[in-house]
Amino acid sequence: MREKFYITTAIDYVNAPPHLGHALEKVQADAIARHQRLLNKEVYFLAGTDEHGIKIVRSARDAGKNIENFVDENFKKFEQLAVKLNISNDDFIRTSDKKRHWPGAQALWKKLIEAGDIYKSKYSGYYCVGCEAYVKEGDLINGKCPYHYAEPEKIEEENYFFRLSRYADEIKKRIESGDLKILPESRKNEILAMIKQGIEDISFSRLKEKLFGWGVPVPDDNSQLMYVWCDALANYVSAIGYGSARNIDISKFRKFWPADLHVIGKDIFRFHALIWPAMLMSAKLPLPKTLFVHGFILSAGKRMSKTLGNVIDPFDLIERYGADAVRYYLLREITPFEDGDITEEKFKEAYNANLANGLGNLVARIMKMSEQYLVRPTTDDQRPTTNNKNIEKQYSDFMDNFELNKVMDLIWQKISEMDLYIQKTQPFKLIKEDETRAKEILRELVFGLWDIALMLKPFLPGTSEKIIVAIQSNKMPEALFPRKD
Ligand SMILES: [Zn+2]
Repeated sequence: MREKFYITTAIDYVNAPPHLGHALEKVQADAIARHQRLLNKEVYFLAGTDEHGIKIVRSARDAGKNIENFVDENFKKFEQLAVKLNISNDDFIRTSDKKRHWPGAQALWKKLIEAGDIYKSKYSGYYCVGCEAYVKEGDLINGKCPYHYAEPEKIEEENYFFRLSRYADEIKKRIESGDLKILPESRKNEILAMIKQGIEDISFSRLKEKLFGWGVPVPDDNSQLMYVWCDALANYVSAIGYGSARNIDISKFRKFWPADLHVIGKDIFRFHALIWPAMLMSAKLPLPKTLFVHGFILSAGKRMSKTLGNVIDPFDLIERYGADAVRYYLLREITPFEDGDITEEKFKEAYNANLANGLGNLVARIMKMSEQYLVRPTTDDQRPTTNNKNIEKQYSDFMDNFELNKVMDLIWQKISEMDLYIQKTQPFKLIKEDETRAKEILRELVFGLWDIALMLKPFLPGTSEKIIVAIQSNKMPEALFPRKD
């Protein structure tokens, strides 16, 4: 039996088209999913869109569009981004999907009721529409949300509440024991500190009329819709068949749950480290194993915004440089667990130095010589066992800890070593004096290139494939990364 690996990205909020932050998360999750497949695991990789909440209702209204059409338009852009980035997700769930998502979200709600964890009460407090979250006054900076720089709205409603407080101690234990692993360590400490300050129950529904009826209905109450986070988090189980009446879906759920890895951003990690585990405990379901929390992408040290004019559009970048160039930047130049920075200049500089000159040039040089001097194309069975045990060990250690940029560093270290080796041995000159030795060196270089292609597979899948095809056909490929001026 193959081991399973269930990996998810956050579901993207479709109130606006995708930005580079969405691309970052997809690419990180994709590299991990592809690596797990290469380890021969049965991978299920889920992405999706979060289509409810007051922010969506208002954005649609501001755009003068009907809500359904509005979310459809933006959903298509998110789906398209995944395709353009060559993301290998097995599935894509939309929370507006009444057939696939709603039964799971409602089944989960009923489990929370059965456990005695849902009760009606009056809510009076603040709500940040940007976060789609209730906020405590103490968390505000100058009366504003620290993430959205906006004043939260005062809400007074009678809603259903979820007994989150009941699970605080147990969640703390699970996090401390590593049963629920949170990466990086700093985020783990952050959530433990939050729990220490005290966890209150949370309003878990909204008045239907306030949302213009847009959302998942609370079972057995016509006047209320589920709070958007309650509905959104359920996607991780609904997508694999939880709450479905069909046997085929139920066996899928049994096979893949719990998730092995939720890849999420730092702004939503507290929902995943508190509310989600509490919901699962209440429903008597196992917790996900690991939360991978990435940072934000900044541009010249600032958050991208239309006002600042520093927005970099992922579609535009892919169009001009190619998917693998964008994947390269996001995976190597951005540290997975910290905020990263991108500007057009930085991107171009990294592209020219490491892709056009580094990898692209190495492939061209070796394959040109190989095409010219090596009669027999290299086939897999001729490939000697590499002397790369050391590099392989480092590679898998970094991968196990999701230190994606360090794996990329290893690959580029090998690229530099091979460049140096060509300079030192000069096989293109040696061929006239000592053909046998020159061909030996060339073969070594081709095998080295093969190693690089294999190491690149999870990261730059398109490029990896092109290198392998070039080696197998013993032909110099067209420039992989043409220089940009
Ligand atoms: Zn906010």
